Amino acid sequence: MNISSFHPPQRTLMGPGPSDVNPRILEAMSRPTIGHLDPEFVRMMDEMKTLLQYAFQTKNKMTMPVSAPGSAGMECCFVNLVEPGDKVIVCQNGVFGGRMKENVTRSGGTVIAVDDEWGDAVDPAKLEVALKANPDAKIVAFVHAETSTGALSDAKTLVELAHRYDCLTIVDAVTSLGGVPVLVDEWGIDAIYSGSQKCLSCTPGLSPVSFNEAAVRKISQRQHPVQSWFLDLNLVMAYWGEGAKRAYHHTAPINALYALHEALVILHEEGLEDTWKRHQKNHLALHAGIEAMGLAFIAQEGERLPQLNTVTIPEGVDDAAVRDALLQDYNLEIGGGLGALAGKAWRIGLMGHASNKTNVLLFLGALDSILTGMGAKINRGIAVQAANDFYA
Ligand code: PLP
Repeated sequence: MNISSFHPPQRTLMGPGPSDVNPRILEAMSRPTIGHLDPEFVRMMDEMKTLLQYAFQTKNKMTMPVSAPGSAGMECCFVNLVEPGDKVIVCQNGVFGGRMKENVTRSGGTVIAVDDEWGDAVDPAKLEVALKANPDAKIVAFVHAETSTGALSDAKTLVELAHRYDCLTIVDAVTSLGGVPVLVDEWGIDAIYSGSQKCLSCTPGLSPVSFNEAAVRKISQRQHPVQSWFLDLNLVMAYWGEGAKRAYHHTAPINALYALHEALVILHEEGLEDTWKRHQKNHLALHAGIEAMGLAFIAQEGERLPQLNTVTIPEGVDDAAVRDALLQDYNLEIGGGLGALAGKAWRIGLMGHASNKTNVLLFLGALDSILTGMGAKINRGIAVQAANDFYA
């Protein structure tokens, strides 16, 4: 067997995540590993909490990264907040709402399902019907930015509604954080989780979470121990909690945390508002090119995620062949459809560092050329110009 060091190819990552990682972040990751209780590391952790509070727009003390990917952040919220017997309303409009249901059941809770069409935002009216029919419900959970469909839901309205019926809220912001406004305190979100590898453009494997006082109260009043030892916040906070005295819980992923710290410094330098504007501008340029080509978006106008564009595959076009040509000929990755949209849609990410004019023009030119070569029925040769006209 001929085994040697692994050198991955240089790709442009325009799928549903991971997104292109800023070289500054990769450099930060290669700095010397120090101990997870080293005073210098603890200082960096405190700074990281402040930076995460900025990203989430919150003053929540319980704000930190879970040492595992977004799925662990999801699980952390559910295992800590759901007690056996709790009724939890889960709004599902794509793949990830389905995972929330799984988490409720595995935590011993009962799911009340509110289903919307894949591609639509969560409908507040349907949620209100469920809240009225289930006055004993304790929690409402929904995905803010459905990565499987490209739909953005109105988190502010959904949280307001949940609170009117005395429910806490769990919000999935894996794809939304850093790409569109996520205003945890202003909207009153009780528990939220995200991921490092989408609009924060960091390496995958960390999940920022934040819990407000109401959520912390529910956790501290639990009758049953949290079923997961690793994700039990009562234990995790011995390491991530306030004060200089930190106790060992698990060996933190030191260098991965340097990377997240750098990603958050970059976000802070650009400023949240300018980051959101950049995502919107590049989305609109991509949209101009896609429409000029004659292709359609799955999500409706006003509910579209700027960082994740879901586009219908033209009739007769081989999904896998197009994605393969993008990868082989242009070193460019986009995503295929998930679940109900498998084989029917492409998912084009413009997340974080990858949300830029060069990527938009590269992708449109590449797609135009590949589809033209396959004889697909599109408006040929005008997509790049349409995007350029938008930028001009
Ligand atoms: N929630 C949403 C909306 C996601 O898009 C993803 C990943 O794509 C996850 C949860 C799970 O995150 P991870 O793959 O980092 O575990």
